[in-house]
Amino acid sequence: MTQSPQEWPATVLAEGTERLRERDVRDMNVTAGRVLADTIRTTLGPKGMDKMLVGDQGRVVVTNDGASILDRVEIEHPAAQELVRVAESQRDRIGDGTTTAVVLAGELLVAAADLMDRGLHPTTIDRGYRLALDRARSELEERTLEIDPSDTELLSNVAHTAVTGKWSDEEAAALLELVVEAAQTVERDGTVERRRITRTTIPGGSPTDSELVSGLAIDTDSSSTTLASLDVDLPSRIEDAGVALVDDQLTVEKADAVTRVSVETADQLARIADYEGDVYREQARGIAAAGADVVFCQKSIDDEVLAELASQGVIAVERTRQDEMHKLARATGAEMVMRVDELTPEHVGQAGSIERRAVAGTHLAIVGDCPDSEQQSLLLRGGTDHVIAETKRLIENCLDDVTLAIETDGVVPGGGATEVALASTLRDAADGVAGREQLAVTAVADALESIPRTLAASAGLDPIDTLLALRNRHERGDETAGLDVTTGQVVDMVDSGVLDPAPVKRHAITSATEAATILIGIDDMILATGDGEPGHDHDHGHDHGDGHGGVEATGGYPWAVGH
Ligand code: ADP
Ligand code: MG
Repeated sequence: MTQSPQEWPATVLAEGTERLRERDVRDMNVTAGRVLADTIRTTLGPKGMDKMLVGDQGRVVVTNDGASILDRVEIEHPAAQELVRVAESQRDRIGDGTTTAVVLAGELLVAAADLMDRGLHPTTIDRGYRLALDRARSELEERTLEIDPSDTELLSNVAHTAVTGKWSDEEAAALLELVVEAAQTVERDGTVERRRITRTTIPGGSPTDSELVSGLAIDTDSSSTTLASLDVDLPSRIEDAGVALVDDQLTVEKADAVTRVSVETADQLARIADYEGDVYREQARGIAAAGADVVFCQKSIDDEVLAELASQGVIAVERTRQDEMHKLARATGAEMVMRVDELTPEHVGQAGSIERRAVAGTHLAIVGDCPDSEQQSLLLRGGTDHVIAETKRLIENCLDDVTLAIETDGVVPGGGATEVALASTLRDAADGVAGREQLAVTAVADALESIPRTLAASAGLDPIDTLLALRNRHERGDETAGLDVTTGQVVDMVDSGVLDPAPVKRHAITSATEAATILIGIDDMILATGDGEPGHDHDHGHDHGDGHGGVEATGGYPWAVGH
């Protein structure tokens, strides 16, 4: 690979938007949808392009998340922008299913252009699409499988489905376990209290070294370095600890002290030193007297205060982040004071235990067994910033999906199974639709089947054969049959645990259809007058056989998975 991992998605997408600008303005929006969908496929293709070789020891982290790539380019085209909005809304509201949403929106646009070529008026297409959306949504609801949120294995399957093709199996297995455990631990009355899960990144090691610890892990690095140099022996674990939070610096304002008096004699210097010593002792005594065993300070702490506090058995942590201060306050019941001299016993919170621990050279204070809440901390590991960032994003992906599954109690079969089932329902429903809307309803069915087709192509299988096999299985009554991309087999998705949270699909289908209808509305004026001249670079020909223009050129597909 000649381009750096950071550059290539941007370059490929920039090329895509360039191709888009070259198109005739008449089929601009629809073509943009197609080009962008192709571009995304191209960008995410399997021929090395989708794989960012970032790890050492041959570890590969695959970035094929539509939204994160779209993030990195500026796209000015209205249709492209609309597709980006689809991806963003899917990512921000749901967290998963971005590729599905964008591919579907692209397909729906291309299908709309086909229908217009065949003489359908945009408003007819709009009505047909909306009809199909309603029907698809209610069918999806009916096909949603209820789950038991305490079923760890099932939740692992959901998490695994979310990251298939994005993680090596070994890493996935290790991290999924942590995610599911964390989510289950912070679940209360059907709600996953995500704020109770803290993610702390620790450079070094590999993602499989990541761990889940009970309690709030606070990075104490700068303070610990100082403490070590002070040669004081602080306990590594304190039971029933008092916790003070100070939004002040524990320092003496030296500049002020010096400028206010003019230092002329050694005596005066000594008095200043005395004064400083008094202030330090005063601060340390105040904190200890309030009943604190640990003080977290949002600003810096002078070494002298650290030493003074240490001699009174108080651990001091400086430069604690604001969000960590809030979490500490919530967990321990401590109230943050703005000035250290305001601290009273009422402000001090409690922790059942505070443990000092070093992980790969990073010093942590793990504040556990707090009165208010069960906090969980994911200590995420990775050799480079890039690996850590990737791991974080994937963890987030898993957490999103597991949360959705727990909170809605509902999953649907993945691997294209649900799309094939919905398509079949829509084809049946189309028979009952009077007028030309019928054609638009059927077009939505076809577009839905682009998902299993794309998955098949990603797995190196023939899209048509796979789709036919899938339809066949569904017609014979196995309506949860899908393609397992890891084996290349058409199998029952429930049995093999390929499951997506129902809201992921619902949102993807809804936002894709809505985006398509918005753009059809915009295209109304320009597209209806299309000349249809032969040889004109119309990209409306829609051959389900080979898939897509960009794909032919590059062999690129999203969800590239080896099997
Ligand atoms: P992305 O997260 O890359 O944006 P999506 O979440 O939109 O992509 O789609 C991922 C698709 O891959 C889903 O349809 C999901 O069911 C499917 N999938 C995941 N794991 C497997 C698997 N083992 N076999 C088949 N399909 C899978
Ligand atoms: Mg996904």
